[in-house]
Amino acid sequence: TMAQYCISLHVDCVGKNDFKMKISRQFTVFGSAIFCVVVFSLYLMLDHLQLDRIKNPINEERLQNLVILQDKIDHLERLLAENNKIIANIRDSVTNLRKSVNNDKGPLEAKNLSQGLVDLLPFAPIWVLIPSEDCQFSAQTYSKAADEMLDVYDMLSFDNPDGGVWKQGFDISYEENEWDQEPLQVVVVPHSHNDPGWLKTFDDYYRDQTQHILNNMVVKLHEDERRKMIWSEISYFSKWWNNIDIQKKDAVKKLIERGQLEMATGGWVMPDEANTHYFALIDQLLEGHQWLERNLGVKPKTAWAVDPFGHSPTQAYLFKQAGLSNMLIQRVHYSIKKHFATQKTLEFFWRQNWDQESSTDILCHMMPFYSYDVPHTCGPDPKICCQFDFKRLPGGRISCPWRIPPQVITSDNVQQRAHMLLDQYRKKSKLFMSKVVLAPLGDDFRYTDAQEWDQQFNNYQKLFDYMNSHPELNVQAQFGTISDYFEILRKVTGMDQAGMNKGVSPFPVLSGDFFTYADRDDHYWSGYFTSRPFYKRMDRMLESHLRAAEILYSLTLANIKMFGKPSNYPAVENYKLLTEARRNLGLFQHHDAITGTGKDWVVVDYGTRLFHSILNLKRVIVSSAHWLVLDDKNIYTYDPAKPLLQIDEVQPAQDVLPHKTVIKISATPRSVVVYNPIEQARSSVISIYVTTPHIRVLTAQGRPVIAQITAVWEHFTQASTEVFQVSFVAHVPPLGLAVYQMSEGVELHTELAHYMFLKKGGHVSVTGAEQFRVAIPQETVPVSVENPHLQLFVSSTTGLLEHSIKVDFVWYGTTSNKDKSGAYLFLPDGEAKKYSPSRPPVIRVTKGPVFSEVTTTFTHITHTLRLYNIQGVDGQAVEICNTVDIRGEFNQEIAMRITSDINSMNRFFTDLNGFQVQPRRTMSKLPLQANFYPMTSMAYLEDSNRRLTLLTAQSLGAASLKSGQLEVIMDRRLNQDDNRGLGQGVLDNKITANSFRLLLEPRNSAQEVTTVGVWVWVYGCIPLLRENNAPFSYPSLLSHISCTYLNHPLIQMATSVDPALLTPVPHSPLTSSFPCDIHLVNLRTIQSQEEGGGPSEQAALILHRKGFDCGFSSRNTGLLCSTTRGKVILFRQSYKHTCTCSYSKYLGWQGQACCCLQ
Ligand SMILES: [Zn+2]
Repeated sequence: TMAQYCISLHVDCVGKNDFKMKISRQFTVFGSAIFCVVVFSLYLMLDHLQLDRIKNPINEERLQNLVILQDKIDHLERLLAENNKIIANIRDSVTNLRKSVNNDKGPLEAKNLSQGLVDLLPFAPIWVLIPSEDCQFSAQTYSKAADEMLDVYDMLSFDNPDGGVWKQGFDISYEENEWDQEPLQVVVVPHSHNDPGWLKTFDDYYRDQTQHILNNMVVKLHEDERRKMIWSEISYFSKWWNNIDIQKKDAVKKLIERGQLEMATGGWVMPDEANTHYFALIDQLLEGHQWLERNLGVKPKTAWAVDPFGHSPTQAYLFKQAGLSNMLIQRVHYSIKKHFATQKTLEFFWRQNWDQESSTDILCHMMPFYSYDVPHTCGPDPKICCQFDFKRLPGGRISCPWRIPPQVITSDNVQQRAHMLLDQYRKKSKLFMSKVVLAPLGDDFRYTDAQEWDQQFNNYQKLFDYMNSHPELNVQAQFGTISDYFEILRKVTGMDQAGMNKGVSPFPVLSGDFFTYADRDDHYWSGYFTSRPFYKRMDRMLESHLRAAEILYSLTLANIKMFGKPSNYPAVENYKLLTEARRNLGLFQHHDAITGTGKDWVVVDYGTRLFHSILNLKRVIVSSAHWLVLDDKNIYTYDPAKPLLQIDEVQPAQDVLPHKTVIKISATPRSVVVYNPIEQARSSVISIYVTTPHIRVLTAQGRPVIAQITAVWEHFTQASTEVFQVSFVAHVPPLGLAVYQMSEGVELHTELAHYMFLKKGGHVSVTGAEQFRVAIPQETVPVSVENPHLQLFVSSTTGLLEHSIKVDFVWYGTTSNKDKSGAYLFLPDGEAKKYSPSRPPVIRVTKGPVFSEVTTTFTHITHTLRLYNIQGVDGQAVEICNTVDIRGEFNQEIAMRITSDINSMNRFFTDLNGFQVQPRRTMSKLPLQANFYPMTSMAYLEDSNRRLTLLTAQSLGAASLKSGQLEVIMDRRLNQDDNRGLGQGVLDNKITANSFRLLLEPRNSAQEVTTVGVWVWVYGCIPLLRENNAPFSYPSLLSHISCTYLNHPLIQMATSVDPALLTPVPHSPLTSSFPCDIHLVNLRTIQSQEEGGGPSEQAALILHRKGFDCGFSSRNTGLLCSTTRGKVILFRQSYKHTCTCSYSKYLGWQGQACCCLQ
């Protein structure tokens, strides 16, 4: 039956940033539409034809690339057969290209040989192939189809008047007869908010609270079929499930069947929506949904997110694509809640800002009041609602802060109490369009003991019974799940039950996001965008390791299948390591984990999980790479104690930055295997610590490689005499493994770096660098470094960028008011103050053939600017690394500020979850801290000529407080709690490394486009004068790919010392790179159905087609890929059949089915 698998394209989402997914119709292993299930043998892996054809050793790299390009063009030709004009252009162009390459071969050869640059300049086409259709998305004229959050921000005054009992709102009144025609329907939704770690660790909460909640749930829901409950954290639920017996499991299944228990959202956790990357958001949702599918056969319909500190449309999009129809959000700025309440628009269809139709719409309910606890959910008056939280009955552990306690409901008081509660329900209902009202009933870790269940359920049942038996009240009140609520809402408003926004929907359409959250006054929650940045960085390292391991593991299983014999490869053991890593990553996406808002020891617990998972994933990577680089698979052995490959980066403990191991080099060649986890062929610099500066680096074919030796600095001016760093450009095929060899010896292609040290008015003494040329000029000298693309001018007194783009560091303090900055809140003492070091810094300038850099050490920061000498993506941007140490400071936050002459005015752009870009406006009517936004992968500024993009490898808070300026907070250390329940400050700072790339891109001028004649492959993409207030924006292709490079570095592995044990050969699983705009999000092997299962024969292939802006020059970008109108070719190894998957049809943005049959 293997041959019968058909892949079909699921297409309810075709947007600019859209996931394209395919679902095996016969084998839908889980409900989420976003995931594509593919049988291994279906994809890829034709052994490549590209290499070894051309014998000229010098130009081989360049010609290889040319061959790759030609192959690609062949594909393109097939794909674009209907467009002869374009094809003709391309053909002409390639001919020209080839001619031009051949023509300058002679002189280039000689020149490059003498300068030792051959390996540094891989051939890259001058222009990237971009069919005009691929630009249509970003270039389309926008017609306003939805209300924009940006406009709401423009309109609101953000005053904060006292609203009476509903402090942040207004008085609500109604007429007694309003429900005469259509009675009020009240749905009370019992819930218990279980944080997977916050004041206690995940395991401690489970032991002390969560297991009791779930145990009691089984008993107490069975006592009365009218009782209901929702649950949303699968991390807890699955742990409990593993601990209960079969009878209890059956009882749970019965509750679900009867609709008494609903699994809402179904994610591993209720994730943060600001700092999380969409890779991890998908992964944790997938892990939860797969668990539900396997164990309960359940597909969640409604998402429940009451506690994340602000809400992102990326999450809404993922819910929609995962098959959910409805969602609920809670933490939204109080002024926005009030505005929506006055307009009765608290329920709306949330649409992505690029979506011109309605395909991304999801029905969203925004809770109107301050919190999700009972005092703020039954109606506008917390003093009244608190009296209907029966856990607060007198004598209990908690009470009502409004000083009026609840009363047990009796026949004597039921009439009065029912009227009181109904009054609140009616008032709440006035904020919505329909006559259905939602009243959540719960709080953090509620329903722990049996008594609490009885108190809440029995008293409420009495109130419902009274209300329902008095027809003159015109009310129908009941317990319900959150989907029950939406079902009734959809019915009374005449809507489609499944979720489409069609026909008679009374609800408005909204797009945009809900950052930055304020719950009261000027208390903006922008501190957590940065809190505990060490772990925000570590989270992304785990993500890139997990993705790299998942892909390599899936490729290895497929390869083993081709091998056809049993092998020692630890498939099941590795699968367990992957599963554990997925779950630890998932856990860390929780809104008190990646946010940095947990107690110190909880942070350590998370950190330890991340740390162990990174270690384990390295095991998966090396054991898989080992299999793939073997020529003779029969000699594969697996010994976890003595792996034959070792990743050369080691993190010694959960709270310490990783360092490199030292590779011993001798006359016998030692191999280094380099894994490229991205889907495009790539040339990037790798650096290895070695024991000698006299080193030869050879390719797998034995050709010498240009290498640069730099000193390893034990202290800033003291070099090691035993350890050296060798750096060279590795060329690695997409998802492939390249092999290089290192041995001791004199080699003309290896060059020592040159150094210069500067210190204003001070003396520098450099030790240990006798091997190197070191200059210590006594007078001021201009400092600059350059590569084929860029030249940087650096201040000779500070080592920081100057001239048109300036870099500075600044401090923020905290306000002297009572409420101060803490883990959640940013409450600065006004504008930032310039960082001025107490003593002049030492500046170290390194120059060499592979890279050049300027490193400056200040007291709190070591700042490095690096330029790679590569005519490719890595050469296009400045790499910035800041190692930050503010452990000696109190109530200080340190930021990097980039100042440019870009006329950006008050506009700037930040990404949301690395998935899409949200335009921002800095507003003077808002306090400074309100103008900070989360930055997960990038932020940029632009005017009509240029765009300046800061790409980031970790989530941090960012702002543009002045025109041309972009700043990002790098660490914060705060003495005090900020009164949001955490009960401590943030004082556990670590030495933290923040990595960035800075990219300055000129915009295409119309003239450039019209004068290039045959090279106008981007025709149709002439940048239009875009409206200043367009609600969407897209990064350039170069920016997208630079971001991928930054977040997914090459992984280098050295072989063990004995070369007899392993002589690796390169491995190249794909015939060609993926198109430039298609990102392989993951290739994730699905678990088998068996209990505790290992891998099945299926994997989820998750692709993301990225929206990009064609209004930037695609000339000399160094990109080695093209775009293909959303088509990806998957090869079938065993049958040599080609399967073309078309990921979208452009006109009308409809999808096409794609089928691969053998
Ligand atoms: Zn929470």
